[in-house]
Amino acid sequence: MEIRPYLMENPVMHYAWGTRGKEAFIPRLLNLSNWDQSEPWAELWMGAHPKAPSHVKTSQGEISLRDFIDAQPEVTLGTRVIKLHGKELPFLMKVLSASEILSIQAHPNKQQAELLHRQDPKHYPDANHKPELAIALDNLNALVGLKDETDLREILKRIPELETLTKAHNNNGLSKKIFETLITLATSSPEKVAATVKKLKHRLESKSVSLSFEEQLFIDVAQKYPEHDVGLLLLFVLEAHIFKSHEGVFIPAGVPHAYIRGNIIECMANSDNVVRAGLTPKFKDTKTLLDIMDYSIKPQIYNPPKTKGTFTYKVPATEFIVHLWKTTRGEVLQLKEVDGPAILLVVEGQITIHWPGSNQMIVRSGNSVFIPAALKDWNIAAHSDCLVFLSSVP
Ligand SMILES: [Zn+2]
Repeated sequence: MEIRPYLMENPVMHYAWGTRGKEAFIPRLLNLSNWDQSEPWAELWMGAHPKAPSHVKTSQGEISLRDFIDAQPEVTLGTRVIKLHGKELPFLMKVLSASEILSIQAHPNKQQAELLHRQDPKHYPDANHKPELAIALDNLNALVGLKDETDLREILKRIPELETLTKAHNNNGLSKKIFETLITLATSSPEKVAATVKKLKHRLESKSVSLSFEEQLFIDVAQKYPEHDVGLLLLFVLEAHIFKSHEGVFIPAGVPHAYIRGNIIECMANSDNVVRAGLTPKFKDTKTLLDIMDYSIKPQIYNPPKTKGTFTYKVPATEFIVHLWKTTRGEVLQLKEVDGPAILLVVEGQITIHWPGSNQMIVRSGNSVFIPAALKDWNIAAHSDCLVFLSSVP
């Protein structure tokens, strides 16, 4: 195997919540000229996950990145990463493009994930945890974590239907009380959830004054999901955020979240382990969800400077770290901090990767490359103003 960067070919997931038609971001990023306008374009996966590995272009043709890594783990991953994470690429990088809300979900921690996989491999095919970082490419609307108690008291005043249903009043631990009650009712008394949703829908639809962000979201989402879907009520309990261009949010295990709308660069541990709470026709595991909730932990938010330059999203995970480069024309970057396997994605502009032996490769916007651990002393030169993301192992 030649020690050089490898251009990647990445699978696309056409989940129903993806953007489509003129709004579709992924075909635009990939510079596709002929693509299905009616299909939703939700996710682009860059990595070696068994469900949908990327392929790398070699002189012998395209090979799955999994097989490529398997064939020479020391060269591709490096002994440092193998010692830490075994012979698997520890992270998965994605581009997400959402036109409507994703399911409300949380992810188990490592021990919980191993246990779930042992007990229920059908629903938890993966024994790994899934800490994740989402970086907004434009404006990202998202629900992350629970609202604090002051805000929840305000919500109970404005949405008395929620107070009647949960019997949550002014008590301490209000967020936990409301969340647990709703999740429990979803299984024990779905008819009560449905009745509350119906009443609230009726009241909000006839409301003459303008609706709050959550109320409008509820009205929109309630058209698509059945009234007994508790996710419709969780919309009021989760904290709404708008992340601006390149702001990031790290979501630790046990924190409920749902992306609402926007284009995102995402990086996570190499896993697809999801416990769903609502807004999905898929399997909802409410007992497990309550077991894995962590009410004490807050999502971590990153605000890179607006100026040109580099920024590192130093997340509290051992599997990945993400670098952002906003370069100007002619700039050369030596990437000293990058050690081990990396995946680089050019979102805007064009760069040349240089490596020892006067070798070079042009990488255009929409292209991604896999950089094996054995490749050292490489740098990138920007042809124009560029936006580049690189994921590697810290
Ligand atoms: Zn998630």
